[in-house]
Amino acid sequence: MSKKLIILDPGHGQFGNPHTTREGFFEGTQNFILASHLRDELVSRGFNVKMTRERVEENPSLEDRGSMAGKLGAVMFLSIHSNAPGGDPKSERYTKIRGSETYYSITDEACNADIARALNDAVVATMQTEDRGIKTRRYPDRPDWDYYGVIRAAAQSGCTAAFLIEHGFHTNPRDSAFLQDDACLCRLAVAEADVIARIFA
Ligand SMILES: [Zn+2]
Repeated sequence: MSKKLIILDPGHGQFGNPHTTREGFFEGTQNFILASHLRDELVSRGFNVKMTRERVEENPSLEDRGSMAGKLGAVMFLSIHSNAPGGDPKSERYTKIRGSETYYSITDEACNADIARALNDAVVATMQTEDRGIKTRRYPDRPDWDYYGVIRAAAQSGCTAAFLIEHGFHTNPRDSAFLQDDACLCRLAVAEADVIARIFA
């Protein structure tokens, strides 16, 4: 039997979303490092893994990232991000807000909700951060469309098990310290790979 394929999507490009608690750190680079660890953990659990960015400096369109899942017959699409609040960066709230949340495709909603819950629980427990819940978001005036471009493109290309995890807030000192520690990112990759292997193996 051929190995099951999982698409990992490290969000943004290399210099996407400058890190606001440390000069010279970028969400796009951090996402790539975490995705690379997760790829290694999934490969060691018997999966075939393809990343939407083979190299950190690549930055394909959201459509190209998501549709790769359906085109290649992936069993799961997972987009990897960290979060930042809207509003004034100088406000007190801006650095205080923290926690993990996981978005999932409205296609196959009930099944995806269980998977999203398991993934988010693993992230919250490993990062020791707040649980901001599992969520769906619908496109304005198109209630049958997912709001987020990568999730929508993956689902519409035929991979309905499509997820996006916001791994804490890179604007919060505690979440951010975790995300900048390579040993922490390795532990996070192990926790997520264990959940994925339990569900998709
Ligand atoms: Zn992001």
